[in-house]
Amino acid sequence: MRIYVTVDIEGIAGVVHSDEGSPGNPEYERARRLMTAEASAVVAGILDVDPKAEVTVVDVHGPYRNIIPEELHELAILSRGKPRMYGMVHGIDRGYDAAMFVGVHGKAGTAESVLSHTFTGTILDVQVNGRSMGELGLNAAVAGAYDVPVLLVSGDQTVVEEARDLFGDEVLTVKVKESLAYLSSESLHPISARHRLQEEAARAMREWPPVKPLKVETPVHFEVELARPVLADLAEMIDGSERIDGRTVGFVRDDMPSAYRVLRLITVLCSSPL
Ligand SMILES: [Zn+2]
Repeated sequence: MRIYVTVDIEGIAGVVHSDEGSPGNPEYERARRLMTAEASAVVAGILDVDPKAEVTVVDVHGPYRNIIPEELHELAILSRGKPRMYGMVHGIDRGYDAAMFVGVHGKAGTAESVLSHTFTGTILDVQVNGRSMGELGLNAAVAGAYDVPVLLVSGDQTVVEEARDLFGDEVLTVKVKESLAYLSSESLHPISARHRLQEEAARAMREWPPVKPLKVETPVHFEVELARPVLADLAEMIDGSERIDGRTVGFVRDDMPSAYRVLRLITVLCSSPL
């Protein structure tokens, strides 16, 4: 079996503040170790059941260079560094049987959800064929285009809710913390969170829950609501995009991976100096 494991930092046990996800901040150095350890726990759980599994751990936070390579489970392959065309799911087309998403955060605008956002602080909402999706849904829909189901998701209670809504009750989840607000949570101890992740990753391999790959209808219609009209001015420069209102841009692409690429580009434009 080939398993694709993405790891973000905001949904890791104990993390509550953007300082903990910001390279250069002393708190970040601890958070990246917590992130690395949660990734290793999932790898261990997969290998407990299938010692021959090939596990790719994909670092998907900020610069995509957070996981400490020498501290990660030694049998994992680590995918890191950016930019890359398909961002958080780059490489998912390389023949995987399943995906697991670790350290996930809620989508932009979710209340009582630590550090909820969608790619940047400047994307207010993304609608895919009229359905609002955060990173969890968008990444899963790209995986779905390659027939890869998401078997396990971890994060706070809002992530668990989003996962069930997208994939059904069969999806396995680990709630490592209960968010109380945007910058506040009650969290499991990191060691307890790792135990839970290892157990559920093993369970996913043993029971292989009947989660279907997330498919979206094609052609895919996207609407991206941005924080300010000037950002929509930039996004509107992309060939084939149209202005829907002051801060919303829409576009249509033949399939989900192509639409996701446009969204990645909008994310890059949103961080350009103005
Ligand atoms: Zn992140």
